Amino acid sequence: MSSRFARHELIPGWNQQQLADARVIIVGMGALGNEVARILAMSGVGRLLLCDPDRIEESNLSRTLLFRQSDIGNFKVEAAAAALKEFNPDIRVKTRSLSLIHGVGLGEIRDANLVISCLDSRLARLQLTGRCNLVKAPYIDGGTHPWGGEVRPYLEPDGACYGCSLTPEERSIADIPWSCLDTRSEQSVGAAVPSSALVGTWMGTIAVSFLMHQNCPSGTLKIDSSRGTTVIIPQFRDSECPLHSSIDSVTKIDVSSQDTIKKLRSQLPQSAVALTWEPVQSSVECTNCHFQEIRWGLPAVDSCPLCQSPLRSRTTVELDNAPDCMKLADLGIPPREILATRMGNDWEWFELKNSEQGDW
Ligand SMILES: [Zn+2]
Ligand SMILES: [Zn+2]
Repeated sequence: MSSRFARHELIPGWNQQQLADARVIIVGMGALGNEVARILAMSGVGRLLLCDPDRIEESNLSRTLLFRQSDIGNFKVEAAAAALKEFNPDIRVKTRSLSLIHGVGLGEIRDANLVISCLDSRLARLQLTGRCNLVKAPYIDGGTHPWGGEVRPYLEPDGACYGCSLTPEERSIADIPWSCLDTRSEQSVGAAVPSSALVGTWMGTIAVSFLMHQNCPSGTLKIDSSRGTTVIIPQFRDSECPLHSSIDSVTKIDVSSQDTIKKLRSQLPQSAVALTWEPVQSSVECTNCHFQEIRWGLPAVDSCPLCQSPLRSRTTVELDNAPDCMKLADLGIPPREILATRMGNDWEWFELKNSEQGDW
């Protein structure tokens, strides 16, 4: 181990090799994501996967130590990866400039040692919770308010999850088709670097402890800088929480997200219908005239070629009619995704292999 970590080795119980061997996924590369990623990289966590679809705006720069003025307009994950490599050239950083559902496969989440949620909407948190629970992945969620925030470690595979802390009405947002909701339209709230640094440092501290099998707080940390307190609120598993179903046995197939629907079909049993986790567009139709067209892909805003009115997407989660030549990635299927597959009344799970571009 290089002398970079000589001071770590003086800490009783510190295990640098465990950190070097660890894989951590960070979802959300805003203010909190910046803080946590910096702590993990400098601590020597060997592999990081950063996922965030957004580009850097000037208003991010007051809270994000990984971004510079010259990064405005670039993807957050790309700028963050470059900065992290400067903090510690020995780590591997993978980036996905996509939303969670399209950016990180369930196989990757399952094989990560820890997932860090630095998201800013309830919907996005519920999506991440559902995906972590499907493969029983430990995760830490954080959120800030102007003078503090909350850190919620969900480190027990059968313990409470983020959804358990919500009322059924609050959870029901996840029942609305996700594509109908624009998560960006949520109102901006005040945020400043003292809070994100405080909350992010707590998240980074718990993450590093967890990766080295040290004691971690169990319960939600409520951080209030105006009182100078961090208190723990117990978390309870809600027996009504619907987010705890998990995937049991998975069949690995010789198909990657860079392969085509044709190849996927050739690897699945004859009667199997593969499903996507989020609806994909199968056709478009004009909201005004009679124009319609088969058009597979991710739903996109577009206008009618005949009358310029907005087009409406028809969507599906079933891939049995998708065109042979279509790449899975172009339908928003991430590397190492686990696809649910319906065979009559039964379900089976098929896991995509690594693709060259998606290896982590
Ligand atoms: Zn739950
Ligand atoms: Zn039209």
